[in-house]
Amino acid sequence: MNPTHDPTLRSFIDVHSDSPFPIQNLPFGVFERKAGGRARVGVAIGDQVLDLAVLEEEKLFGGEHLAGQRVFAHSSLNLFMGLGRPAWREARRTIQNLLRHDNPTLRDDAGLRKRAFVSQDDVEMLLPAQIGDYTDFYSSRQHATNVGSMFRDPNNALLPNWLHLPVGYHGRASSVVVSGTDVVRPHGQLRPNDDEPPTFGPSKLLDFELEMGFFVGPGNELGESISIDEAEQHIFGFVLVNDWSARDIQKWEYVPLGPFLGKSFATSVSPWVVTAEALEPFRVEGESQTPEAGNPPLLDYLKQQGKRSLDIHLEVGLWPEDADRPTTIAESNAKYLYWSPEQQLTHHTVNGCNARPGDLMASGTISGEEKGSYGSMLELSWRGTDPVPLRDGDERTFLKDGDLVTMNGWAQGDGYRVGFGEVHGRVLPARSA
Ligand code: MN
Repeated sequence: MNPTHDPTLRSFIDVHSDSPFPIQNLPFGVFERKAGGRARVGVAIGDQVLDLAVLEEEKLFGGEHLAGQRVFAHSSLNLFMGLGRPAWREARRTIQNLLRHDNPTLRDDAGLRKRAFVSQDDVEMLLPAQIGDYTDFYSSRQHATNVGSMFRDPNNALLPNWLHLPVGYHGRASSVVVSGTDVVRPHGQLRPNDDEPPTFGPSKLLDFELEMGFFVGPGNELGESISIDEAEQHIFGFVLVNDWSARDIQKWEYVPLGPFLGKSFATSVSPWVVTAEALEPFRVEGESQTPEAGNPPLLDYLKQQGKRSLDIHLEVGLWPEDADRPTTIAESNAKYLYWSPEQQLTHHTVNGCNARPGDLMASGTISGEEKGSYGSMLELSWRGTDPVPLRDGDERTFLKDGDLVTMNGWAQGDGYRVGFGEVHGRVLPARSA
């Protein structure tokens, strides 16, 4: 067993059993102290942030990959992501060792503790990476089937390419925002009536998409590609993603080149990047890609050995501005994805396109088989025909102004949770155009 996954490990920092951030997790993020100071990289432990720039100043990273490096006194994780997996693993071991209940280095040094720890209440979380490129896949079979059924033909819901390659599109990196950022209802061209010309105005069919995303590590040179066996070494870690979508803009504009302005107005990510290493104990087989299951065989470059999926429980909450409490409107799981992160990255680079440190690749909406596990309002309300009940008598087909959308996720270990925290955002009214 990887010793960093030991369920009996504990820290001298108090961590509640349902905290997303026990000593087995140690997600990386970028933060600023509300009291002032520059942005830097930290790790979440319980309700605290451990400032890694302080540990670096104190020369507490003594291993072969990190000794002498200055990668944490920065406003993004890009440099650290670019160092590669041996450095990530070394950092995790060093940090976990320093946080152990029986290690006095930090525990018994009151001055150092005061400088190195800050309450999560006293920081502002920033985007974890400077994202050069953002790609969004379409990797949930149930989601693709639902959308194909609604917009095309229930009997041929999946297009012929879907089971052969991870379908995706190039998104917009400039509008990726960190959790807590408000989202302004977008304007655009709409054509509510197929027999009439389009109109211009605020989207009436505003939606969320429940997704997971991963950040690229070292990446590949232009003209080279990342093989399926190498892909794991290029996946730094994962965040929750809300890929906000304007369905009415999308429906009119997407033929024949795919999503554009119906998607590019905002994409929200959770601030803590949970490393691929922390999630290793939660890998599962996932949805079968074997020909015996009735699926076509994959081309060799996409064939993957071992457990491809992640067992991560996902939840979506909707909290209207005037409501006393939120409603959980969907519960899903990352294991429902057909295409794995490694297959996504391999396919993305197979043509020689270069992936770079800090690039964000999202899974696409994650929907399970049950209606309550669908990852968008489009599916939950079946295109607006079946309103989703909220607590206290309210209901929704699509999002209203003032709605707060929250997403949470965690992998359940033996007595501990490897969690993501939350990604949330509130819908603001359209600006006057
Ligand atoms: Mn999406």
